[in-house]
Amino acid sequence: MSEIRIPGIGVSEGIRFGSVFVYAKPPAEAAFPERIEEGEVEGELARLEKAKHESLAELDAIISQSEKKLGKEKTAIIQGQRSFLNDPAFYGEIVRQVKRKQSSPEHGVLTVLAQLTALFEKMENAYVKERIHDVRDVAERLMSHLQHVSYPDLKQITEPVILAADDLTPSVTVQLDRNIIMGFVTRAGGETTHTAILSRSLGIPAVVGTGDDFVRLQHGDRIILDGTEGICILHPEPATEAAYRHKQEREQEAARKLSAYRELPAVTADGAEIGLAVNVGMPEEMREGIVQEVHGVGLFRTEFLFMNAASFPTEDEQFQVYRSMLEAWQGKPIVIRTLDIGGDKKLSYWDLPHEDNPFLGMRAIRLCLHEPELFRTQLRAIVRASAYGCVKIMFPMVSSVQEFRTAKSLTQDIMRELKADGVPFDEKLEIGIMAEIPSVIQLADRFAKEVDFFSIGTNDLVQYTLAVDRMNEKVAHLYDYFHPAVLRSIHRLIEAAHAEGKWVGMCGKMAGDPLAAPLLLAMELDEWSMDAASVPKQKYTLSRLTAAASEELLQRVLDMDTTQEVRQAVQAFRASGPAEPAEKVRPTRADASARP
Ligand code: PEP
Ligand code: MG
Repeated sequence: MSEIRIPGIGVSEGIRFGSVFVYAKPPAEAAFPERIEEGEVEGELARLEKAKHESLAELDAIISQSEKKLGKEKTAIIQGQRSFLNDPAFYGEIVRQVKRKQSSPEHGVLTVLAQLTALFEKMENAYVKERIHDVRDVAERLMSHLQHVSYPDLKQITEPVILAADDLTPSVTVQLDRNIIMGFVTRAGGETTHTAILSRSLGIPAVVGTGDDFVRLQHGDRIILDGTEGICILHPEPATEAAYRHKQEREQEAARKLSAYRELPAVTADGAEIGLAVNVGMPEEMREGIVQEVHGVGLFRTEFLFMNAASFPTEDEQFQVYRSMLEAWQGKPIVIRTLDIGGDKKLSYWDLPHEDNPFLGMRAIRLCLHEPELFRTQLRAIVRASAYGCVKIMFPMVSSVQEFRTAKSLTQDIMRELKADGVPFDEKLEIGIMAEIPSVIQLADRFAKEVDFFSIGTNDLVQYTLAVDRMNEKVAHLYDYFHPAVLRSIHRLIEAAHAEGKWVGMCGKMAGDPLAAPLLLAMELDEWSMDAASVPKQKYTLSRLTAAASEELLQRVLDMDTTQEVRQAVQAFRASGPAEPAEKVRPTRADASARP
């Protein structure tokens, strides 16, 4: 087979060699007929019965594997799923649909699933209500056998592979085990989808947005995945394989050199100390030593705590997580962002109504204000945890001053309640917002009077400013934070905040990009929060920069018309820098007090 190059978008760095595991979803409803002819009923029932037996055999294999690995108790869920296949209300009803209504078995499965979903939704008991996810899982397994596609069960993969998926939801990505999933490639997706963000924090190299070429990937194919360059090489020739092995060694060598910067403070060539912080999704993902490397957490994405759970975490469960994070960070500040669900982030146990434009819909603070009990539970947990360290609360996706006031006053109500009950908390904790919607930029001077701080979310600010969907690979070439409109927005926000004495962080991907560093330095960004992998690289970059040269570049760039001109200018600036000024960095430890 000849070598095929499949370009995409590299979202998580690293080169991996392996074989493809195609992670397929059961096909959509449109792929089979709704009704069958009378004469077909018997044959279709036999097909359904065969799919049922295959599903049962598959579940039995999973049960015996899982009992060995996880024990009987954790396997009970799968036992429960198995029983649905013999349940008259599930399997029996599908058979009835085929016999009486002449539904195709696939249509029968979907009809029964829809009926049961409606029924479970009305249940009072939360535990029973959640069982619908098991029903759905079984329904999808049955569908996959009817349609002869492999069922997407990651637990079945036991040998290291490179996963190929049409798309991966953040909730599936969250479960990936990097010892088994060496890397992944998807057809869909862009640079700042939450799946991409997770792949970086899990340290799994990834290429997304491969588009039409994706269909060339077949189960078992030999592949090289290059998450740095954003390309996959299918059936590589020996010479290509050797070249990539060499490239992998060079990358690993560069990473080893850069790692010398991990423990050094973030200091520019002219001696200015910069507040570097880290973004955290799941607390357990934090690599060892990171607490010493930065001055705090600039973004704790609490939604992953919710996505990793089987049901809504209670106030106490959340409190324990926040508290242990704060204790682990030994008094260094942690910006805890309240739940940012919606858009591409879903909860398996919360069926939110379909929206045509979910990124413009019920997301983040909008959802929290709409579900005040959910919001209150989280706020109480955060405020209580503030007694154990330095917490700053941040609301995501705020679009109006009123929204901020409402969220802040809810937080203050909770503080009053806790105080009345004698529960300790930090009465001076700061409350700020994400700056990620253009209306916040327009009203920056007004917001600056009310918030304690801003954190710029370039991942969303770019999509909302440029009307470019961050998830859509077809417009990925238009998605760029070096667009002059985005740069002016950032500049304007920082100026407005500083005029009111408020500090500004950035927790979008731009903060960790070495090309953007001189611009952010010249704009006097106060806190740079990035994924842990970017920390040494950005410290190295900062060690090469001076205020004067960066300021000169910023002034030129702010006067440019196009993204292309800006990119050229920042690239030329980087290339013209001194080669190895690493010695200039003072070897002292990062200091929490450097924080604005
Ligand atoms: C952002 O929008 O830049 C951001 C940091 O938040 P998220 O990527 O979680 O939307
Ligand atoms: Mg965002």
